[in-house]
Amino acid sequence: MRSLVRRVDIVAKAKAGIREEFEVTTEIPHLDGALLRTEDVSKAFGGNQALSKVSVEAHPGQITAIIGPNGSGKTTLLNMISGFYRTDEGTISLDGEHIQGLPSYKVARAGVSRTFQTPNVPEKLTVLEAVETGRYAHDRASILASVLRMPSFWRSKNTDRIEAERALALVGLSDQRDELADSLPLGNRRLLEVARSLVSNPKVILLDEVASGLDEDELEVLESLVIRLRDAGMTVILVEHNFQLVLRVADDIYVLAQGAVMAHGDAAQIEQNPRVMEEYLGVTAEAAADNSGGDDE
Ligand code: ADP
Ligand code: MG
Repeated sequence: MRSLVRRVDIVAKAKAGIREEFEVTTEIPHLDGALLRTEDVSKAFGGNQALSKVSVEAHPGQITAIIGPNGSGKTTLLNMISGFYRTDEGTISLDGEHIQGLPSYKVARAGVSRTFQTPNVPEKLTVLEAVETGRYAHDRASILASVLRMPSFWRSKNTDRIEAERALALVGLSDQRDELADSLPLGNRRLLEVARSLVSNPKVILLDEVASGLDEDELEVLESLVIRLRDAGMTVILVEHNFQLVLRVADDIYVLAQGAVMAHGDAAQIEQNPRVMEEYLGVTAEAAADNSGGDDE
């Protein structure tokens, strides 16, 4: 894994014409996460109660997984957090500040970044350009630039490009930097979305089933990346179908069923919860065990 990251890093540097003294590393410095909390959040679509009084907490320096069968409300919860939908009731806060009701761009500026379950890749842009567009929400000193520790570079107009290169290296996509973004295979488009969400310099990252469609190498890059982001201090929220991945990486797991939290605990507690395993996750767990590559699409 380490050698793979190192290799893509070297390729990124060579292609970007970056001199050795301005080396872009894939080391991640300390990141400021934020406490994300939903309290009794409910949402109905017509007569369909998609979420009922959902309370979750995601802490800085932790990976908080949200799992549950299809239709259980996972994406809806991410949509509420990121301001795409309004809550019917309940509150959502970031380090104690309420963010429910804010438009999505303000939630992004407050430091909450997300990926979409169906990758939302712009047309007619190269992979590198598509990642650069992810910086629209950026309005403070960048965590990714800070690793350069170079004041001249810090102010440079190349910062966007360098950061996009670095985000691409972090997700292992440097070799594809000049390809058309919308021509990439699904797994690569998912990783591209992760890179886009990172260049906006978030405190909280919401990943919606990013592992699905990834091959083994891509899954390894993703797994190592979320662990490193967590260890650096970011708040990572992982909505995921790949149950084995969740058990390996999550510090805290919420299980949704029919729009409500039906279980909450660490991996050992969730794994030992017969109701979770049999009633709600039997199929998912089997599929994940059969196919640790996670390409369940
Ligand atoms: P999950 O991500 O866990 O598979 P979703 O959050 O996508 O589940 O969906 C939860 C429920 O809300 C489903 O019944 C789904 O049909 C419904 N739903 C989600 N988004 C919308 C929407 N925009 N309009 C109407 N119903 C929706
Ligand atoms: Mg979903």
